[in-house]
Amino acid sequence: MSVEKVIIIGSGPAAWSAAVYAARASLEPLAFEGNPFWDENRINGTAPLGQLNLTTEVENFLTWPSADNAALGAFSKSALPPDKYAEVAHYYEGKRAHSGKRAASGPEMMQWARQQAVNFGTRVVSDDIVRVDFSKRPFTLFTRDGQTVQAKAVIVATGARANYIGLPSEDRFKNNGVSACAVCDGALPRFRNRPLVVVGGGDTAVEEASYLSKFASVVYLVHRRDKLRASQIMQNRALTNSKIMMKWNSVVGEVFGTDDDGVTGVQLDSTVGGPSEKLDAGGMFAAIGHTPNTAFLKGQLECDAVGYVKWTLPFRTYTSVEGVFAAGDVADATYRQAITAAGTGCMAALDAERWLAEQGEH
Ligand code: NAP
Repeated sequence: MSVEKVIIIGSGPAAWSAAVYAARASLEPLAFEGNPFWDENRINGTAPLGQLNLTTEVENFLTWPSADNAALGAFSKSALPPDKYAEVAHYYEGKRAHSGKRAASGPEMMQWARQQAVNFGTRVVSDDIVRVDFSKRPFTLFTRDGQTVQAKAVIVATGARANYIGLPSEDRFKNNGVSACAVCDGALPRFRNRPLVVVGGGDTAVEEASYLSKFASVVYLVHRRDKLRASQIMQNRALTNSKIMMKWNSVVGEVFGTDDDGVTGVQLDSTVGGPSEKLDAGGMFAAIGHTPNTAFLKGQLECDAVGYVKWTLPFRTYTSVEGVFAAGDVADATYRQAITAAGTGCMAALDAERWLAEQGEH
C-alpha cells in the first residue's frame, strides 16, 4: 500500500484551507470530504462541505462583500466545472434564483474553496473515515466503503455539528427562520425588527441573544431551567439587556410558520407543569451546544470532556499524537467561525509540512 504524505479528513473551510496550503507545499494531499450518500450524514448535518454548506449568506468572511447575483453566477460558472456549477446553479437560474445584490452563500463559498484545493492538485475522495489507527506510523485510516489508506501525517478537520432540539417542525424551517448560528444568520433582513427566540441557557445562548438584540425587536431567551448555565458575566449581560426577555422553565414544543414566510412563531411548553404559551417570532435560534465530529477517533486522540480534539501546544495545531494535527471547529469550542477555521487549516498544513521536514520525510 502506498503511503500518503498527508491525509486531510473533512471538507469545511479548515480542510480546504489546509489542502490549498499542503498542495502548494508539494505535499500532494489526499482529502476525504465525506460520503454524500450516507443518509446519516444528511440527517446529522455532517455531509460534505461542512456547516457552511447548511447556511445562507456569509456576510462576515473577508473578501466577499455583497455583489450582484448575476456577477456571482458568472464567477461560479467561470470557477467551477459543470458538475459543481450545477450544485449552485439554483442561486442564478430557475424559480429559486436570487435577484439583486447579496453576499456569497455558504454553499457557493465551499464549492469555490473545494475547487481552489483541487486546482492545486488535491485529490478528493467522497467517503467518510470511520476509524483510525494512530498507534503507529504510518497512520492507518479506514473508509466507510472498506478501503484502507496510510499517511505519514494527518490533519483532522471534521468540524462540529450544532445541536438542534429535534422537532420535525424545527427541521422544516431550517434555513427558513430556524438557525443554530446567530453570528452567521442573525443580521439577515428576515430577522430585523422582529421578535426572535433563542433556546438554551449556556454562554452560546446568551452570546447569541445579545448579538441578536441589536437587530431584533425583542429576543426571548428560552431556557429549560430557572437558572442560566452561562458564566456570571454573560448572565449579567443577558439579564441587564432590556431587549432580552427571559422565558424560564420553558422549552420550544413546536415551531410555526409557512413555506413562504418561514418561521412565524413558536409554542413554549412549561417544564414545571405550567400552561403552554404561543409567541410570535420571526426566527428561532437553537443554542443548545455543539457536538464535535470526533466519534471516529475513538480514543485515538486526546479530546476534552465534550469531545473536542485538544491542541497540545499554544497557538499550534499539534495534537496528542505526533504527526496528527487538528484544525477548525473540531478543535475549537470558542470561536467556531469560518474564517478562524480557514486560519487554523492553514496553520495545520504549515505545522504538518514543518513536522514532516523535521522527520526528513519531505
Ligand atoms: P453548553 O454550555 O453546553 O450549554 C448548552 C445549554 O443548552 C444549557 O443551558 C442546556 O441546558 C441547554 N440545553 C441542552 N440541551 C437542551 C435541549 N435539548 N433543550 C433545551 N435546552 C437544552 O453549550 P454552549 O453554550 O454552546 O457552550 C459550550 C462551551 O463553549 C462552554 O464551555 C462555554 O463556556 C463556551 N462558550 C464560551 C463563550 C464565551 O465565553 N464568550 C461563548 C460561547 C461558548 P441546562 O443548562 O439545563 O443543561
